[in-house]
Amino acid sequence: MSKIRKILVANRGEIALRIMRTAREMGISTVAVYSEADRRALHVQYADEAVLIGPPASSESYLKIDNIIAAAKKTDADAIHPGYGFLSENEMFAQRVEDEGLVFIGPSPKAINIMGSKLAAKAAVAKFNVPLVPGTSEPITDINKAKKVASTIGYPILIKASAGGGGKGMRIVEDEASFDEQMARAVGEATSAFGDGSVFIEKYITKPRHIEFQIFGDKHGNVVHLFERECSIQRRHQKVVEEAPSSIVTPAIRAAMGEAAINVAKSCGYYNAGTVEFIMDDQLNFYFLEMNTRLQVEHPVTEEITGLDLVKLQIKIAEGEKLPFQQDELSIHGHAIEIRVYAEDPANNFLPDIGTLNTYKRPQGHGIRVDDGFEQGMDIPFYYDPMIAKLICRADNREAAIQKMIRAIDEYEITGLETTLGFCRFVMKHEAFRSGNFDTRFVENYFTPAALQKSDATDDWVAAALAITLENGKKVSPKIETPTMQPSENNWRKRKFDS
Ligand code: ADP
Ligand code: ADP
Ligand code: MG
Repeated sequence: MSKIRKILVANRGEIALRIMRTAREMGISTVAVYSEADRRALHVQYADEAVLIGPPASSESYLKIDNIIAAAKKTDADAIHPGYGFLSENEMFAQRVEDEGLVFIGPSPKAINIMGSKLAAKAAVAKFNVPLVPGTSEPITDINKAKKVASTIGYPILIKASAGGGGKGMRIVEDEASFDEQMARAVGEATSAFGDGSVFIEKYITKPRHIEFQIFGDKHGNVVHLFERECSIQRRHQKVVEEAPSSIVTPAIRAAMGEAAINVAKSCGYYNAGTVEFIMDDQLNFYFLEMNTRLQVEHPVTEEITGLDLVKLQIKIAEGEKLPFQQDELSIHGHAIEIRVYAEDPANNFLPDIGTLNTYKRPQGHGIRVDDGFEQGMDIPFYYDPMIAKLICRADNREAAIQKMIRAIDEYEITGLETTLGFCRFVMKHEAFRSGNFDTRFVENYFTPAALQKSDATDDWVAAALAITLENGKKVSPKIETPTMQPSENNWRKRKFDS
């Protein structure tokens, strides 16, 4: 295996920049590809070379295999990094890259193929004693049979798309009466989003927590895990807040889950970076959900607690190097939290809110990392994922990381569109999150748009006043206009009314 000289990054936005930065540190040249909507994008400016690959729609540009391969040939790149989303989990793309004599910075096409189908993945890992959620192991073809299975498993159940991703094609069915309707919706969504209407049934785990393991394998058969990430704070079955380590995973559970994750990787001869996702019930039983055969959006929290650069590891493994460490040489240092800053309106069902970044000021300082792909004055194009940035905080322990995150959110200034910053601040302040006693239903259980309007300065004052009342037995009237309350007023809330 030979050294990589030039990498084409088949992606855009923050992840394209993230990959190019590491390549530059390693002395590797970079090629950006871009659509007509991204002419002025930062990843285009950062790269050593850039090639236009088509019109704005991703189906005409970032998903066009021929155009991307042609760009690699034209610039004489010797490797392609797919990032996440787009073609990253497309085995035909990985195969094509290899057939063209280029290095695919990721797993083998075969591993992508197996893990790309949730049903094929379950079949593969079942042989390795990995616990699975009770459910069907074949696509549903007969509705009546499926209903029988559902009543045996017990409602609520979840109908899921085998080809699913990004939380799409998933329907909770509370009882038999709503089975037909939810089934039709799941099949429709799966067909339109993935071109494959195959769905299956899983028991719906109540009070579920999403815990995933970062794994890494080399091309010599070695596999390690880089510990877990907890991603239970979600909307639409998609992550918004992620952290490492998880607040409920004990060393014993970590060892058991880590072993299961490594077995999942071994079941498909996996190499390079991958994520094994598990769902955990309120009794701390864990079950395999799926494997994502790529670098994950939330990989920075793992980098922050391990001190490793996962993109650098990916490149070295693609070059054929052996993993530079063994499992017992790895350990967790401190605690990291990531929030995804989406151009979405939490007060309006988290609907995308596209527009211009009139003000865009990043937080700074100790333990803070911002991975983004925008500058003040830029538009968030509506053709792609509405994520503006990832804000990552690292500290010695969870409580300190939460405090740092609140400080960072308060420093972050974004005007021109609604974002998830205020929602994430609500999460950081919430007792359920702080105590570690939360699950994937956090939004449904606790969040209302009104919560964003409520001043927490007021809350603090009322709480303080109550405490004084209880202690002294005398009444204190909370005056919210007290000047000392003003400085802690948060930017994001003020901005709501500015913009
Ligand atoms: P992660 O598991 O890394 O948090 P997400 O589920 O949030 O990833 O997805 C990351 C990106 O990949 C998003 O832009 C999402 O829309 C996209 N994505 C994920 N799975 C698929 C898929 N099967 N097909 C198309 N896009 C996908
Ligand atoms: P995707 O490919 O869309 O990421 P996953 O299977 O990883 O699909 O599930 C996404 C999310 O949906 C999980 O993080 C969890 O919140 C929820 N979920 C999935 N399966 C179950 C289940 N059996 N019970 C409860 N929640 C589930
Ligand atoms: Mg998933």
